[in-house]
Amino acid sequence: MESGCEECGFRVEAPVARLDAATLGVFSDARLPGRCVLVLDTHAEHFEQLDPALSRRFMEDVARAARAIREVTGAPRINYALLANQVNHLHWHLFPRGLPDDPDPRVSPWELASPELPLAPARIESLRAALAQALERDGSDG
Ligand SMILES: [Zn+2]
Repeated sequence: MESGCEECGFRVEAPVARLDAATLGVFSDARLPGRCVLVLDTHAEHFEQLDPALSRRFMEDVARAARAIREVTGAPRINYALLANQVNHLHWHLFPRGLPDDPDPRVSPWELASPELPLAPARIESLRAALAQALERDGSDG
């Protein structure tokens, strides 16, 4: 997945780790540092049409990624979104929410009034490293 989907070309920009069925990457959004995407490793467009075993593995990856994001950011909650309106390759958006610098914790990420600005490259790198470590710890527990 790091080199891009062979079918549609979608790729993870700032990959953190390959999980069981999907690859986690940091999404550059300075409003919500720690925002991530979790991209299915095989090309598929419709979640409801996935093989049930694959959809379960994908969802376990979502939970594992969310635990890592909460651990690294200290966010009290995670927002989850699966849209595929613009990129037709299944990927979850995971947003750390409710931190003191959250622009508006009560609204959905797409309703935030502040513009989406990129994270500093150094911040992306530190998040990648911290998330990878958190995932490793989580994986070794069970
Ligand atoms: Zn694809």
